[in-house]
Amino acid sequence: MSIGIDEMPRIEIGFFPTPLVEVRRLAAVLGGPRLFMKRDDLTGLALGGNKTRKLEFLLGDALSRGCDTVITGGAAQSNHCRQTAAAAAAVGLECHLALGGEEPPLVNGNLLLDRLFGAVVHWCGEQRKGERIPEIAAGLRALGRRVYIIPYGGSDAVGAMGFVAAVRELKQQLASRNEKIDTVIIPSSSGGTHAGLTVGIDAFDFPAQVIGIGIDKGVSGGGSYESELAVLANRIAGTLGLQANYDADRFRMRYEYLGAGYGVVGDLEREAIRLLARCEGILADPVYTGRALGGMIDMIRGKEFAPGDTVLFWHTGGVPALFEYAGELHAG
Ligand SMILES: *Cc1c(COP(=O)(O)O)cnc(C)c1O
Repeated sequence: MSIGIDEMPRIEIGFFPTPLVEVRRLAAVLGGPRLFMKRDDLTGLALGGNKTRKLEFLLGDALSRGCDTVITGGAAQSNHCRQTAAAAAAVGLECHLALGGEEPPLVNGNLLLDRLFGAVVHWCGEQRKGERIPEIAAGLRALGRRVYIIPYGGSDAVGAMGFVAAVRELKQQLASRNEKIDTVIIPSSSGGTHAGLTVGIDAFDFPAQVIGIGIDKGVSGGGSYESELAVLANRIAGTLGLQANYDADRFRMRYEYLGAGYGVVGDLEREAIRLLARCEGILADPVYTGRALGGMIDMIRGKEFAPGDTVLFWHTGGVPALFEYAGELHAG
């Protein structure tokens, strides 16, 4: 089926389809529904992650517009920034990153990788969501650069297209194995993954519900996060020329796993990371997938799914941040 997505500028920087695996030992330990995992931690670009899907479209757009420089922003341990730095290197673009915090004494995890990929880091203190991108971009433009701005998390209609396409990929994988899933669980933070999957589910007629696990308390702009998701989904649908009218009610979010806030590891994340590692030999990350997995485990233990259900956990990556959290994760 073509919905125009294949006509959009796109570069190939990942290895797709990512593996779809059944995690039987974890499911047996939890005693709940059948569990699958979509391994976007294995997208192949610079230790992997969900941003690779977005960047295929974002950098495709940047190159088609003749840009020579990209800028984006995030936390000091941003997976999105690390994958952007790698993707920019792979296609010969200069990469600038607006990162929250200050230069740490020891550069580790994603930040170490940003540096290896040659990104220019602009430290932004309290502003960890790319608030200073416009100002830095203006400075670069004044120097004659053709700058492409990638918003926080790569979550605009262009980037989210990667997750519309991901639904087609998953649908084909399931069909070829004669499997069906009922629910997709994702960490949901800047929204591109959640909104893109939702539009993809409608566009490719793939009947599954998406449940987003909240990662970050902060919602910008005063509206609810769900209404931001609806705005983004309507933009994606508009770009594809689809008839759609999303509103906040369409999006299911769970906020009870936020713990002490963004990037703060608690017992929920620690236990989930250990359980997955010990049952399956698979790593989850401290900020996103550890929290979302912890949420899913809690929902399974709370009998929120019927035994006959099949649940898919979308592993969105983030594993390089583990090393920065050694102190909080050390098993003793
Ligand atoms: C960015 C990120 C997410 C969240 O995806 P959004 O599209 O920003 O909601 C989830 N997991 C990991 C590992 C990420 O880096």
